[in-house]
Parts: sequence; structure tokens; C-alpha cells
Amino acid sequence: MTPPDPDTVRTTLQAKRSEVEQQLGLLERRPTDQGSISFGKRVGEGTSMAVDRLSQVAVHDKLQITLGDVERALSKLADGTYGHCDVCGEPIGDDRLEALPWAVLCVRDAGRR
Ligand SMILES: [Zn+2]
Repeated sequence: MTPPDPDTVRTTLQAKRSEVEQQLGLLERRPTDQGSISFGKRVGEGTSMAVDRLSQVAVHDKLQITLGDVERALSKLADGTYGHCDVCGEPIGDDRLEALPWAVLCVRDAGRR
């Protein structure tokens, strides 16, 4: 089993971090762009906007969690604990890390969060 190359992982994580930050930036800018909401005439339009807003908030929350994980994974990479679960210290697993390079918890502990 070859451990992941730290430089490759760091590059992947940094790319992911800029991507997430960019998405967060877009989401945070959106409410001001929606100044025309109150001009909607049809009943129900406001409702769908509200739902839209809620799902945006959910996406925003999710992105912030991902960003936190990416930051954490980067510092784990720096202190040599990358690839090990933050809770139990067990290896996170190559398959999981390949699918989710910023994973900081094993499947079991991630399921509990
Ligand atoms: Zn664990």
C-alpha cells in the first residue's frame, strides 16, 4: 500500500479550497442580487423563493463544513496525521480518501456527525 503523495494531496486540497471559497462567495452575494423578489405577482412565487433560499442555506452550510474539512485535512497533512480519523485515530482508508481527499473522519465516525 503506497501512502498518498503529500504534495499531490496538498495540491488537490488547495484546489478544492479555492473552489469551495468561490462557491461560498457566489452564494453570499446572491441575496442582494435578488432585490426583485417583492415584485413577484403570482401567489406562490414567494414560497418557491423561500424554498430556494432554504436550499441555498443548506448548500451554504454544507460548503462551510466541506471547507472546514479541507482546512483540517491540510493541517493534518502538515502534522503527519493525514489519512487517520480525527476521532478514533484509525486509518480512514485509501478508497475513501480517493473519493474524498479532505475526509478527516473514518466512515463510521463520519456517520455519527
Ligand atoms: Zn474513526
